[in-house]
Amino acid sequence: MFRIGLGIDSHRYESGRKLILGGVEIPYSMGLVGHSDADVLTHAIMDALLGALSLGSIGDHFPDTDPAYKDADSMKLLAHVYQLIQDKGYEINNIDSVVIAEEPKLKPHMGAIIASLASALSLGIDAVGVKATTAEKMGPEGRLEGMSAHAVVLLKAR
Ligand code: MG
Repeated sequence: MFRIGLGIDSHRYESGRKLILGGVEIPYSMGLVGHSDADVLTHAIMDALLGALSLGSIGDHFPDTDPAYKDADSMKLLAHVYQLIQDKGYEINNIDSVVIAEEPKLKPHMGAIIASLASALSLGIDAVGVKATTAEKMGPEGRLEGMSAHAVVLLKAR
């Protein structure tokens, strides 16, 4: 009836890259490095969705050795994962997530990020939790080496 899933992702900062979270471009002096657009939040949510139905990880579905996914729009990959969930007879009850980033301040962008994810997953904004926290200057996020995201999802059978 119900299935829970967990996803965690991290990407490194580099100047000259775009910073994209939940499909929203965030103005900042650095962006995240990855084979795709490195949307760390969307990646964590995709892994949680796949994990909830024991469908493996995003690395299995979208290998970073495949040129097809070079600079891929992660929101398109998310749409693909959402279709898989629906094909298995499930719908999303709710999502919660946390982005761990020392900089930039994400609060001004949170409404846009939540609206973007809710729209991609045909959910109300009250079913999509996105929070941001700093690492209190500790660890790789605290040293501005990159950012991480954690997500949990609850699926229910249709
Ligand atoms: Mg990733």
